Amino acid sequence: MNDVIDVIVAGGGPTGMMLAAELRLRGVRVVVLERDAEPSPVVRGLGLHARSVELMDQRGLLERFLALGRTYPLGGFAGISKPPPPRLDTAHPYILGIPQNLTERLLAEHAAELGADLRRGAELVGLSQDEHGVTAELADGSRLGARYLVGCDGGRSTVRTLTGIGFPGEPARVEWLLGEVYLTEAPETIDAVVTEVRTTHKGFGAGPLGDGVYRVVAPASGLAPDRGVAPTLDELRQQIRGLAGTDFGAHSPRWLSRFGDATRLAESYRSGRVLLAGDAAHVHPPLGGQGLNLGIQDAFNLGWKLAADLQGWAPAGLLDSYHRERHPVAADVLDLTRAQVLLQSVEPGPQSVRRLLADLMDIDDVNRYLIEKVSAIGIRYDIGGGHPLVGRRLRDLQLAPGRLFELLRSGRGLLLDRTGRLSVGSWADRVDHVLDAGQGTESQGTGSEGSESEEVLGEDAALLRPDGHVAWVGQDQADLERHLPTWFGRQDGAAHAQAEGGRPIR
Ligand SMILES: Cc1cc2nc3c(=O)[nH]c(=O)nc-3n(C[C@H](O)[C@H](O)[C@H](O)COP(=O)(O)OP(=O)(O)OC[C@H]3O[C@@H](n4cnc5c(N)ncnc54)[C@H](O)[C@@H]3O)c2cc1C
Repeated sequence: MNDVIDVIVAGGGPTGMMLAAELRLRGVRVVVLERDAEPSPVVRGLGLHARSVELMDQRGLLERFLALGRTYPLGGFAGISKPPPPRLDTAHPYILGIPQNLTERLLAEHAAELGADLRRGAELVGLSQDEHGVTAELADGSRLGARYLVGCDGGRSTVRTLTGIGFPGEPARVEWLLGEVYLTEAPETIDAVVTEVRTTHKGFGAGPLGDGVYRVVAPASGLAPDRGVAPTLDELRQQIRGLAGTDFGAHSPRWLSRFGDATRLAESYRSGRVLLAGDAAHVHPPLGGQGLNLGIQDAFNLGWKLAADLQGWAPAGLLDSYHRERHPVAADVLDLTRAQVLLQSVEPGPQSVRRLLADLMDIDDVNRYLIEKVSAIGIRYDIGGGHPLVGRRLRDLQLAPGRLFELLRSGRGLLLDRTGRLSVGSWADRVDHVLDAGQGTESQGTGSEGSESEEVLGEDAALLRPDGHVAWVGQDQADLERHLPTWFGRQDGAAHAQAEGGRPIR
């Protein structure tokens, strides 16, 4: 009880570790409580979409992720493949295939490097809060106090339950068994049988991982009383046999797991000093592969706001903008997933819609719309302002002093100044001022020359929040000063932060 802790993060999955890192980047004292004594071997997510890849770049982690992953071309929706449309507004127009356990490892290493205190074998079982702080009760009977607590403890979140936040939506109606197992059957036979079964059962699959190991997914015969209990190998073999007529000689599982199709969204992402992020706030079937991405992006949105609140410079309502911005994004993902589930049906009606959508996706704008949604590069927060870039994240650009995403690594705000006339004044401790000549700058490595962002920004200046979303676009100092306090507090609000000079970066 002697620790001085600002934030307790309950759950050390991808969302929790990303949040812990974002908080540590800003000097917040954070403890992560993780129930599991060891990292789980179960691999759920298989990749990162473009916006998550961009976030890794914004934190200097891209090389590590690329080294362990493999890039795949973008394009497609609900299993309908189409080549991507031209001029997607990102420097990372690909899917990065990387198993979730590796993403978790890299994020945990990143958080540890920044000084996050990860406590394994620490299960949160109770919590209470008052206007000053939160107290977490652990399974071993110990207690821990902090000013805030964030539940990143997954779909069956204890924090959400204890806080009484509603989780409306559809319960699981179908369940699948998932595992990494050795298959002794010849690869060509496995391939042929899987292709045949998938004409009538799209939820069945077996993908090779090398050395005779396959990732197998098969519909379960019903709903398990407790989805947290892994199936047995016999159960999996029986289900494979039921569909394929053979179990391919499945043996020696590396791990087995099960998952369902529940689709739910928390009513609120905040209750007093307790917040929710990741699967604790939203669950949906894995079609489209967005859940982990959504959680990482929740953390990226929340981290700087929570830090600002703790450091005393957050403007009124900043922390509540987390729910306002991220809740609609999750609602959108849930809808997109429901649509994809429907499009998997082999019934004639959904198959007709599928054919129609496949035709529509030949139209570049339709294809682009879907890719921007799934990859999350099209997200626009409703934060007012008439300029088309306001509320959107700005893609990586080559600027005179360096790449934009490298310049954002400090985790601070950024004024991208193409006028040469603007100043961040006494917000310099919270906002970097970057002078850029503009469209004349030679672009290298970002592919940003002639991009949509370049064209739309033109000769204007842009004020970016620490998460890279555009808060203001314009040329006028007085107008800029009207917008700075909305995201960066009052001019004199940096009592807790160290000023780091006010000279622009050239
Ligand atoms: C089959 C499958 C495939 C998927 N594929 C993809 C994909 O390709 N792309 C994608 O983006 N998403 C995918 N997802 C979704 C993705 O796995 C989840 O969205 C992601 O794991 C959510 O991360 P999280 O950190 O919010 O929660 P979790 O990963 O569930 O982590 C929560 C953590 O909290 C811990 N915890 C729980 N309770 C407590 C407690 N009381 N005290 C302390 N710790 C606790 C748990 O041990 C766990 O480590 C897939 C999911 C499934 C099931």
